[in-house]
Amino acid sequence: MVIVLFGKPGAGKGTQAPRLAAALGVPILATGEALRAALRAGTPMGLAAKAFMDRGDLVADDVILGIIKETLSQPAYTKGAVLDGVVRTVPQAAGLDKVLADLGRSLGAVLVFDIPDDEIISRISSRLTCDKCSAPYTSRVPGEKCEVVGCVSGKGGGTLIRRQDDDPDAVKTRLDAYRKSTEPVLAWYQQNGARIATIDAVGAIDDITGRARLALGL
Ligand code: AMP
Repeated sequence: MVIVLFGKPGAGKGTQAPRLAAALGVPILATGEALRAALRAGTPMGLAAKAFMDRGDLVADDVILGIIKETLSQPAYTKGAVLDGVVRTVPQAAGLDKVLADLGRSLGAVLVFDIPDDEIISRISSRLTCDKCSAPYTSRVPGEKCEVVGCVSGKGGGTLIRRQDDDPDAVKTRLDAYRKSTEPVLAWYQQNGARIATIDAVGAIDDITGRARLALGL
């Protein structure tokens, strides 16, 4: 089953993605993490995306569609995927549909994380992120070590840092980009008959997971 997690930056998609992926038994495709990994590895794609990401602007659709196609074509993704932070524009939504059709699959559902802007600002201003696996943390101190099992068991394990695009100016740009380019995707999905489920994304992490699972019938 392919699920798109949809919502503003900081809505909790990155926190819920591993929980929902585990419940579904499928891997995650997170384009933000794919771009950060490309940057850490110093690839041309990562280096070209850096300036856009630091400002909070969206990276070009053809770059994102390349990541989507390459990832979903891998055998590990045959059973489906949880898409975190993809899709963010109408061309990406149309491109994802085409990739899925070419692979003989279809979209299972779009899960919308509903959350007001003031909650986003307060969440992101206290958010730290693992510099290796991008896992999000709150109530922690920069420099502490990541506790995600796969990260810790890898060489070295990650360290918690503040993401450059979590500063207030970049967050404002990211919310503007969401309103201008990402929100219209929802209308596109409505017009195209996708299954859309909206959940209240404010509250305790476990409660939100429960709402998400209920909405997806898991
Ligand atoms: P995220 O980790 O999902 O918050 O993404 C971090 C940054 O990566 C975004 O602010 C964008 O600059 C870029 N990015 C990630 N996913 C996408 C996407 N689907 N479309 C365009 N830009 C993206």
